[in-house]
Amino acid sequence: MKRQPYQLGGWNEARAEVAAPYSFCALSKLNGKADAPKDFQWLEKNIPCQKACPASTDIPGYLSAIYEGRHEDAYVINLRDNVFPAVLGRVCARPCEPECRHGWDGLGEPVAICFSKRSSADFKKQDLVVLDRWFEDSGKRVAVVGSGPAGLAAARQLALLGHKVTVYEKHSSPGGMMNQGIPIFRLPREIIEKEIQQITALGVEIVCDTEIGQTITLSRLAEENDAVVMAAGTLRPNLLDLPGKELGGIRHGLDFLLEINDTGTAEVGKEVVVIGGGFTAMDCARAALRLGASVKVCYRRTVKEMLVTPGELEELDHEGIPVEYRVTPQAYIGENGRTKSIEFIRTEMGEPDESGRRRPVEIEGSEFAVSVDTVLLATGQFPDTSWIDEALRSELAEDDGWLKPEQAIEKIFAAGDFANGASSLIDAIGHAKECIRAVDLFLMGEVRLEDFAKIEDVTESGRIREMDAVPLQPMPTIGLGQRDLSAEVEQGFGEEASVDEAQRCYQCHLKFEIDSDKCIYCDWCIKVAPRPECILKLKELHHDDAGRVVGWDIAEKADEVNLVWINQEDCIRCGACVAACPVDAIGIQKVSLATEPVMEMP
Ligand SMILES: Cc1cc2nc3c(=O)[nH]c(=O)nc-3n(C[C@H](O)[C@H](O)[C@H](O)COP(=O)(O)OP(=O)(O)OC[C@H]3O[C@@H](n4cnc5c(N)ncnc54)[C@H](O)[C@@H]3O)c2cc1C
Ligand code: SF4
Ligand code: SF4
Ligand code: SF4
Repeated sequence: MKRQPYQLGGWNEARAEVAAPYSFCALSKLNGKADAPKDFQWLEKNIPCQKACPASTDIPGYLSAIYEGRHEDAYVINLRDNVFPAVLGRVCARPCEPECRHGWDGLGEPVAICFSKRSSADFKKQDLVVLDRWFEDSGKRVAVVGSGPAGLAAARQLALLGHKVTVYEKHSSPGGMMNQGIPIFRLPREIIEKEIQQITALGVEIVCDTEIGQTITLSRLAEENDAVVMAAGTLRPNLLDLPGKELGGIRHGLDFLLEINDTGTAEVGKEVVVIGGGFTAMDCARAALRLGASVKVCYRRTVKEMLVTPGELEELDHEGIPVEYRVTPQAYIGENGRTKSIEFIRTEMGEPDESGRRRPVEIEGSEFAVSVDTVLLATGQFPDTSWIDEALRSELAEDDGWLKPEQAIEKIFAAGDFANGASSLIDAIGHAKECIRAVDLFLMGEVRLEDFAKIEDVTESGRIREMDAVPLQPMPTIGLGQRDLSAEVEQGFGEEASVDEAQRCYQCHLKFEIDSDKCIYCDWCIKVAPRPECILKLKELHHDDAGRVVGWDIAEKADEVNLVWINQEDCIRCGACVAACPVDAIGIQKVSLATEPVMEMP
């Protein structure tokens, strides 16, 4: 079961509240720092990509920097918000892109937010970028168990807050699934190493080859440190309990990928079936193909329910790996102790299960066999709490091996997949950032970071209408003949293409507003407006008690118009209205989410 979220206030609280019945929010201030709930709600409503990013990355901020040729600044924005820009710019699950305003009905395709992140890393000038700390040494020590994205993001945030951090990792090198799971052909190792160096440069110590629970126990870490963060991922494989499961040739996919990532190869047969439809399934299939096998992926649901990185299915298809949907295994059939086929049954999609995905229902009489010599199970992983010493295990963990949903011991925190179950890099990083706010509050007894909406006047948007017609830039890839276990498939945008792609962004952090005192109701802005409802002629706007717009009455006749109003929900920030207005009645402001140390009053 997932852990209960850390209670943090500010931006996070506003996020929880945003499902409230109002939909259009004004800001609480004209300029400067604003931190009323409605300010955060403005950000939520107007910058859909940032809302969808679990690490709240300032996406319009970095895309505008790339557009202006400031790739280094774009990298720093990403680094601050999501810790691993060059890694995520390659393999992020990209929950932001389906939400992008550019992909809304009739507006074309979403901006390539993820690949642009990679461009910021590819074209920055400095080799290593090390952030400034928020606070001097606090004198507090924190131990982190696990050096995956959650453990390292936690360590980085703790170091910025001035705490002394030691990360313990049982593997011989740090990085968690970035290093042990994801293949090199999707994520070159020097990219991970560089971004980890930016964390150790802040004083974080990473101790590898040290499994907590062996010579050092969690109890000892808790005694010797002011706090402990458990970020041990999901290393317990879900193995299918089917007849024939003891036969040779059946292996969990994570184990297979780990061997390839550690040794550069793995033994695999000639006919491989990968069972599953997530990240591990895709990587197993593409890796087994590169080892010379004929590969097929079998998945019990449909393509819609697959949890894979966008574009990966297309690459799978391009590499010639078939996927058989709506089939589930029934039994492994063996000969001389080895699997020689799998019996499958076809499924149809039923009602949604607790994950929200539709449940596969078996179709009676539809059994069939697939010949195979190697089965790679990509059927999920769970948190493994068996390393927690007995003194603490019953307090922290459930009998089924998951952590208890509530925090049982005050100084022991949990972050990333270990807390919430298998997710994605950006989910793990986002959760670690939230966790560290709670750790810092526990250590220092006060909230030391404040989130706010930073409101700045802007003279022009920098956008012109032609930018809306710029097509999505294609990602260059290497040819099929060059693809092996180590050659990176995606090559990244060229510098010019990176600027072209970034200029497609509407800059949703811009707020266009008509000053009613200046407006002469000439309608020129409406005549040039590209959207049917971005500028409305209104009889009246309706507000709630907090001053938020909750509705409006359209003026049907000319003599009913009391207000010309910009509907920010429909506005694509083209700037056409500003250029057309004869009396400069339309102002532009930039509204960004910012985080700063709380200033002590003198
Ligand atoms: C094959 C594969 C491919 C994936 N591809 C993608 C992708 O393309 N995009 C995406 O967004 N997500 C992907 N994911 C998911 C993503 O990698 C995870 O969600 C993410 O790594 C979770 O981060 P974490 O830090 O919580 O855990 P992990 O990355 O699992 O790190 C946990 C770390 O803890 C260490 N550890 C465990 N127990 C102990 C102990 N007792 N003592 C010391 N150390 C310990 C482990 O060795 C490991 O290094 C993929 C996952 C897999 C398995
Ligand atoms: S247009 Fe730009 S700012 Fe708006 S949602 Fe898309 S990426 Fe984000
Ligand atoms: S900037 Fe002005 S013209 Fe352009 S979409 Fe927004 S309101 Fe309409
Ligand atoms: S162009 Fe300017 S003055 Fe004319 S209606 Fe629009 S905002 Fe008002």
